[in-house]
Amino acid sequence: MTKTVKTVCPYCGVGCGVDVRIDGDDISVSPDRDHPSNLGRLCSKGSALADTLDLKGRLLNPYIGNKQVSWDQSLELVANRFVQIIEESGPEAVAFYVSGQLLTEDYYVANKLMKGFIGSANIDTNSRLCMSSAVAAHKRAFGADAVPCSYEDLEQAQLIVITGGNTAWCHPVLYQRIKLAKTRNPDLRIVLIDPRATATADIADIHLPLRPGTDATLFNGLLATLDHAGKADKAFLSNVDGVEDAVAEAHRTAPNIESVAAQCGLEFSAVRQFFEWYTDTEQVITVFSQGINQSSSGVDKGNALINCHLYTGRIGKPGMGPFSFTGQPNAMGGREVGGLANMLASHLELDNPDHRQLVQDYWQSPGMADKPGLKAVDMFRAVKDGRIRALWVMATNPAVSLPESDLAREALDACEFLVVSDCMAETDTSLFADVRLPASTWGEKSGTVTNSERRISRMRSFMEHPGEVKPDWWIIKEVATRMGFSSEFSYAHERDIFKEYAQMTGFRPEVERDLRLDGLASLNEAEYEELQPVQWPVSPDGQGTKRLFSDGQFHTPSKKARMLAITPRPPEHSVSDRFPLILNTGRVRDHWHTLTRTGKSARLSAHTYEPYVEVHPGDALIYGLKDDSLAELSGHAGSFVVRIRISESQQPGCVFVPMHWNNQFSSGSRVNRVLLSTTDPVSGQPEFKQNPVSLEPWQPKWHGFMLSRRELSMDHGGYWNRSLAAGDIWRYELACKTAPDDWTDYSRKLLCTTDEGVNWIEYLDSSSGRYRAARLVDGQLESCIFIGPDHELPPREWLIGLFEQDPLDDVSRRSLLSGKPGAGQKDAGAVVCSCFGVGINTIVDAIRTQGLVTPEAIGEALQAGTNCGSCVPELKSIIAANQPA
Ligand code: SF4
Repeated sequence: MTKTVKTVCPYCGVGCGVDVRIDGDDISVSPDRDHPSNLGRLCSKGSALADTLDLKGRLLNPYIGNKQVSWDQSLELVANRFVQIIEESGPEAVAFYVSGQLLTEDYYVANKLMKGFIGSANIDTNSRLCMSSAVAAHKRAFGADAVPCSYEDLEQAQLIVITGGNTAWCHPVLYQRIKLAKTRNPDLRIVLIDPRATATADIADIHLPLRPGTDATLFNGLLATLDHAGKADKAFLSNVDGVEDAVAEAHRTAPNIESVAAQCGLEFSAVRQFFEWYTDTEQVITVFSQGINQSSSGVDKGNALINCHLYTGRIGKPGMGPFSFTGQPNAMGGREVGGLANMLASHLELDNPDHRQLVQDYWQSPGMADKPGLKAVDMFRAVKDGRIRALWVMATNPAVSLPESDLAREALDACEFLVVSDCMAETDTSLFADVRLPASTWGEKSGTVTNSERRISRMRSFMEHPGEVKPDWWIIKEVATRMGFSSEFSYAHERDIFKEYAQMTGFRPEVERDLRLDGLASLNEAEYEELQPVQWPVSPDGQGTKRLFSDGQFHTPSKKARMLAITPRPPEHSVSDRFPLILNTGRVRDHWHTLTRTGKSARLSAHTYEPYVEVHPGDALIYGLKDDSLAELSGHAGSFVVRIRISESQQPGCVFVPMHWNNQFSSGSRVNRVLLSTTDPVSGQPEFKQNPVSLEPWQPKWHGFMLSRRELSMDHGGYWNRSLAAGDIWRYELACKTAPDDWTDYSRKLLCTTDEGVNWIEYLDSSSGRYRAARLVDGQLESCIFIGPDHELPPREWLIGLFEQDPLDDVSRRSLLSGKPGAGQKDAGAVVCSCFGVGINTIVDAIRTQGLVTPEAIGEALQAGTNCGSCVPELKSIIAANQPA
């Protein structure tokens, strides 16, 4: 029987609705045409969700150490150890580190247990790493962590300023909405502010490649210009505090366009144009994201751009306002129920005694936390020095994602009692765990999430829990029960939790707060199941709210908004002779976080199969780096080896490395290991975007790669990286500083094929240092290895295609060992369009032979770019690079 379940994508903060069609064992995913956030679109990641549903690598049972145990045994141990440590050392000696991957219901229960019943606020979330600066900026300006806008404001704007975000790759469906809005409204202007020329630059009318870290100066300059131009909205400003000081500081630090251009390293004319457009356009949206937040002055940067909206009254009306795009699927939901160490559930404040009392009364809790807990980076410092003795990590991978990640590993290793609940059996973090608890994942999870526009959507399950897997909320409430809080955590269903939370938002209504869910407070079973996407606050009659602050009322005690006097500060650590380059980090188009899900999809792994450092051609020349070779990247906290990618999209002096890779997929290309754990003093968010580093060529004795139908265990001592290449074929890139005496022996060991009697064909040219070998099983290619003295090795995509032949024909056998496609064989080249698996060579060939000059023409000829559209900016660059002179 076929059925369709409406749920939401588990990746980014756009929060797209998806339809999951289940037909027996066949599961397919398509965009939900009715969901107001994506209106029938999905990006490459969302489109490939069905590829990631298998049980490979899943944690299916509880474990104590390496011993499989029952739920009872594991839960008893967790509860007993937490109770014992709390009795011995107090509640501050335990902590939870949670995640924007949790559903709101999971988050609520974890937060209630820690803040209301353990009595400590040592619960923080990995959202600390992506948007806590935006939270703090909102609270300083509006008195609450409230995002004023809706996605449809993007379509009503006349000017969209995108700052600190590669929307095309990190929020692709919003990028598609903006792009379509620009097509429909040619007057819509887009300004991109980013040190890199990212794929988002494709739709920008102006790209301002500012000097890293100078964002606050740019927005102070804009504020000073707005003041000069008489753009103050005097009526609106009567309800804003701090105006004079903010404007005075803007004039002092960024007095004119010349000064701004010089300080930010920008062209005068480009800055002037941006300021003119902003000055003359009423409907302005400023989209901001991790490039603003992940900074040692991220909160100030957020307030500098919010100041410009408040000064001109451009907030709370259609098509205008500052708009923070969140990273994770439920970062917003976590914020709503107090997932951060300094907040309480339903946007109440931990440092407000009235709020604490309200929450304590509502929960009937024995003793509330009365001071903020440790924020993520400080929490792991406390774990390392033993102040925190027991830590429970839920659905996140701090061994990879924290800055100075080697120190985080030391902390995890030193932790007296570490619990990890996760859907995956082996992560970089779970390797240190005393107890591992199997938690549900997308497809099994049921509850709610909130996206960047405050829209609450139902994430519905459509698969049974495999093995002994349980939802996170169930695991937490079972531990709470065993800690002695059974009646307060007697939830039978996630609906019970949601109801409790929704009712809490209206408890003691005389205590003013921005987050109210009155219309959702008494949902029955069917209503919760059928809940339609809705933006909070939700009125008693169930109506959501598109836009906040339309009435000019804010959530400060005076009901006034606040402008902040911002004194721009440079990044905490500046470049030096030893570390002359500035490292920026971020996402790639088709991967998500630490690869636990997207790493299971060959089509998502094809576009970027290996970590890389992007370097400007001038810097490559200075530091002797060749495209596609390897280099050692070093920073104050460590170093690692990484592939070089030379690109004009970098500005001189800056490099970029993606954030996703970890020890499960590479020999150690965890970029966060080189970053210092410097944080913003207000938000505690780490500075991921501006860290000084150096690069120097890394010269191995040999380079190589392997393709194999079997996943191989890598104990190879040099550089390696693995990715899923197609179906179940794994690709391994290799390099090493030492060469073996016997390549046959070495290769057979690497390919785990020492068994006698395999059909092993090989070729060795000792003089050139080239070796090639393949293992055939029943005439089919089973695995192969290619070694050479440099990185000029045979095309992988062509070889991956040979795995489809059954049996391998004679031409292919010969070409296999010659390392070149034979007559009639083609190499499609690196994948550009992952939806249809179209390679760059195929695209270039079509451009040249068919005279294609637009992405639409390529789409017609090859389908590339016609599904999610994420590759269209890349198609445009390929067209530009391959036109006749
Ligand atoms: Fe998922 Fe892509 Fe939508 Fe983000 S933009 S929610 S990753 S489909």
